[in-house]
Amino acid sequence: MLSFIEARTQILAAVAPLGIEQVALPSALLRVCADDITAPADLPPLDNSAMDGFAVRTADCTTGASLRITGYLPAGGELGVMVEPGNAVRIMTGAPIPPGADAVIPWEECLETDDAITPQATVKSGQHIRWRGEDVASGSCVVATGTVIRPTQISMLASCGKALLPVFRRPRVAILSTGDELVELGQPSVPGQIINSNAIALAAAVADCGAEPVMLGIARDNREDHREKLATGLLCDALITSAGVSAGDRDLVREVLTELGVEQQFWKILIKPGHPTAFGLHGSKPVFSLPGNPVSSLITFEMLVKPALRKIMGYPRPISPTISAILRDDVKKKPGRVHFLRVRLMAAVDGTVFASTAGDQNTGILTTMLYADGLGILPADDSFFAAGSCIDVHVLNPDFAMTAG
Ligand code: AMP
Ligand code: MG
Repeated sequence: MLSFIEARTQILAAVAPLGIEQVALPSALLRVCADDITAPADLPPLDNSAMDGFAVRTADCTTGASLRITGYLPAGGELGVMVEPGNAVRIMTGAPIPPGADAVIPWEECLETDDAITPQATVKSGQHIRWRGEDVASGSCVVATGTVIRPTQISMLASCGKALLPVFRRPRVAILSTGDELVELGQPSVPGQIINSNAIALAAAVADCGAEPVMLGIARDNREDHREKLATGLLCDALITSAGVSAGDRDLVREVLTELGVEQQFWKILIKPGHPTAFGLHGSKPVFSLPGNPVSSLITFEMLVKPALRKIMGYPRPISPTISAILRDDVKKKPGRVHFLRVRLMAAVDGTVFASTAGDQNTGILTTMLYADGLGILPADDSFFAAGSCIDVHVLNPDFAMTAG
């Protein structure tokens, strides 16, 4: 049976980006750039003023000199005429430096009379000028392939006039629940039925990592329904099923997937929760068969499916980094499997992060998941983790609490 790391490594090795599409820049947020983007022109495009003040010739600025104000240059205004010796031009931030001038004096550093100024401080050649190309030289790469597009990249790309951006395609991810006991949210139910919460939760998780969920509803516990709905799911870029993946006589998912040509890569991982998880490939399409238990399906999605979807979307580091945290409680487990311990996190002012258990760790307790800011990754071979020891935590909620102590 595979370890957690082996299972995740195997999944990541099996998936790859799907292709490239062009999107309008504002829609590129959190997508991954699929080409090296070069600047078509210098940035700034012209030498311009960094301050509101006066464009002058440094050589004129001797102590007590009076410079005649001969013009006005607002940002976005005309290029301006020559600043002749002895003159100054009133200039606004961002306006092009007029020919002849080699410095800008902020207005606060001038004594201004009706039509002249006297500089009140020494003036250095080049002061308060933003030079053409000092930020970006024409032809240089501003955003490289594999960069996640965040507001900063959008700012730079927009400044360079990039209206359309090539990004890696988002996968369409089919989500199929299985089970005779399920009823869709909002539909009338009879005692014994349970709401198909997994489909909605998994769709939210898929959307949260930037992919596109496709809802396939519920396959009832018979081969025909499984066959029909799983076949539909295999038309998408990836397929996630929930439940029916254990060894019960109604657990048909793996069997029918095999009939449909899915090659099972593995079944069962040395993890808790999520032990019966299976992974297969239909050609190059990944098929994730997650356990039905709502806690297990969310945790296996987070730890195994999310990195795969991120890799498909072009993320250069599909696995999010873990943080180190100091346990506040003693924790015992059986050796043999990695446990994902639902923990609350709290950061002290010195940056130390503390982790305390979020509640009953039974996989049937969804409430504990609600309170969890992260999943402590407890190594398979260990069985006791003392309060005060350090554990790795996969963060679920980056906005966890801070204390004053
Ligand atoms: P199974 O893997 O089919 O044995 O299901 C394990 C547990 O998960 C059972 O208690 C199911 O009722 C529950 N379960 C299965 N599918 C879903 C679902 N779509 N939403 C919520 N709970 C589910
Ligand atoms: Mg079932």
